[in-house]
Amino acid sequence: MTMQRIGRPTAPILGGGNAMETRSGSRGLQQREDLIFEIGSADKTGVDLPAPAGRKDRLGGVARKVDTGLPGLTEPEAVRHYMRLSQKNYAIDLGLFPLGSCTMKHNPRLNEKAARIPGFADIHPMQPQSTVQGALELIDELATWLTTLTGMPAVAMSPKAGAHGELCGMLAIREALIARGEADTRKRVLVPASAHGTNPATAIQCGFVVDEIKADARGRVDMEDLRGKLEDTHDVAGIMLTNPNTCGLFETDIRTIADLIHDAGGYFYCDGANFNAIVGRVRPGDLGVDAMHINLHKTFSTPHGGGGPGSGPTVLSEALAPYAPVPYVVNEGDGFRLIEEAEGEAAESFGRMVAFHGQMGMFVRALAYMLSHGADGLKQVAEDAVLNANYVQARLKDVMTPAFDGYCMHEALFSDAFTADGIETIDIAKALIDEGYHPMTMYFPLVVHGAMLIEPTETESKQELDRFCDALIGIAERAAEGDESLKGAPYLAPHSRLDETQAARKPILKWTPPAPAAIAAE
Ligand SMILES: *Cc1c(COP(=O)(O)O)cnc(C)c1O
Repeated sequence: MTMQRIGRPTAPILGGGNAMETRSGSRGLQQREDLIFEIGSADKTGVDLPAPAGRKDRLGGVARKVDTGLPGLTEPEAVRHYMRLSQKNYAIDLGLFPLGSCTMKHNPRLNEKAARIPGFADIHPMQPQSTVQGALELIDELATWLTTLTGMPAVAMSPKAGAHGELCGMLAIREALIARGEADTRKRVLVPASAHGTNPATAIQCGFVVDEIKADARGRVDMEDLRGKLEDTHDVAGIMLTNPNTCGLFETDIRTIADLIHDAGGYFYCDGANFNAIVGRVRPGDLGVDAMHINLHKTFSTPHGGGGPGSGPTVLSEALAPYAPVPYVVNEGDGFRLIEEAEGEAAESFGRMVAFHGQMGMFVRALAYMLSHGADGLKQVAEDAVLNANYVQARLKDVMTPAFDGYCMHEALFSDAFTADGIETIDIAKALIDEGYHPMTMYFPLVVHGAMLIEPTETESKQELDRFCDALIGIAERAAEGDESLKGAPYLAPHSRLDETQAARKPILKWTPPAPAAIAAE
């Protein structure tokens, strides 16, 4: 028997601007989904119980008399609502997530399993220390890995994100300046133009003034500009420098930069968000760093974004270690003890940043990741991350414009120079959605025009990198030819171009029921 081919109507042409409309608003097995308030109503419920008989009012007459206004749903409606929403989400478990600077790598399931061990998952932060010795030991062991990998003497484990780690490091610097009696005179913090926005924000939050350093033609710190800013000055508190920097490049003058800052009486804060590019190969302590946060959710693969909280342990040099925040764990040889107050042996501590001890679940995941890779495996993480980014750069460089010459580190940066007039970075990013990929980071760093920053991470195979590059090459060729249809992308997403400025500036965060008149008119 031969299969009979059924004649198919021609599908609308992709890119033609006439995305096919369906009557239901759903398409291709993807259901349109309304707000839960629009699906549910107060008279629906997932359970069917008889009204309780002879109920005694124990509320003293203050029982609610009006409806709560919360939508009721049947069980299948509730399940489907969240299932459908989950399908609208892009996720690292669905595909390559090229967001540069974010290090969206696979979260190994082994780590998840370890984090769910009841002895870690079910303990309470206020339990007596004698009952949580294993958890304290785990924090101490992770701290040892972090200080060993960074070549730094101390680490504050409690910061809960990269930006929070920056706050920790800069508060330690401020405390050190207070101890030196120079907190009022040393206010200036140098920040390169390519810095992540959290760097200047942190400096200002700590009462410092930001002084921007130019980038040179190689995408690195302009050494002449830096030297000029440090000449005959006594007002510099320090520098906040990312290495590898946000252009995906190693700051080759980093030792000189550290010496210049120290000679000027300042401290060197290194933004360690890109540690995944050098872990196991370079120890920041050898580069003259005084403080550096490590994003466990980037370098050590713990989930982030919608998938979980961040964690930003911050390593500190000998000069800053005394000012580390409480609480911290000390290994007493025959057990572990938490120092919880900024007094006695921790009298110089700048205080406390979080209610408890940090992100325990992330500590478990990060240590599981380290132990499963081993020291040699972590070094290979960095090598493979850099190899993958250079593979992407090499495949794309003939159609797109690399922002700088030479090899990159863990992320490949392109400018929009290759696009025809009228086609912009955002059009390319939106077209990637039609190809099944989350867009790359765009318009960051600010030092590159129409920047497109792609970080594949080490967890992608060559096949997946090729599939992604093929899709992006197709879009880049259309952008170079000036294909106007790019301006309407995405065509296949549930929604096409949204007014993102309005959404950011005037978000509608509250659902208001339609006016009764409108209901009556229906
Ligand atoms: C991600 C990132 C940060 C901030 O880290 P969060 O954990 O998101 O607060 C800071 N600097 C750089 C360079 C980053 O990539």
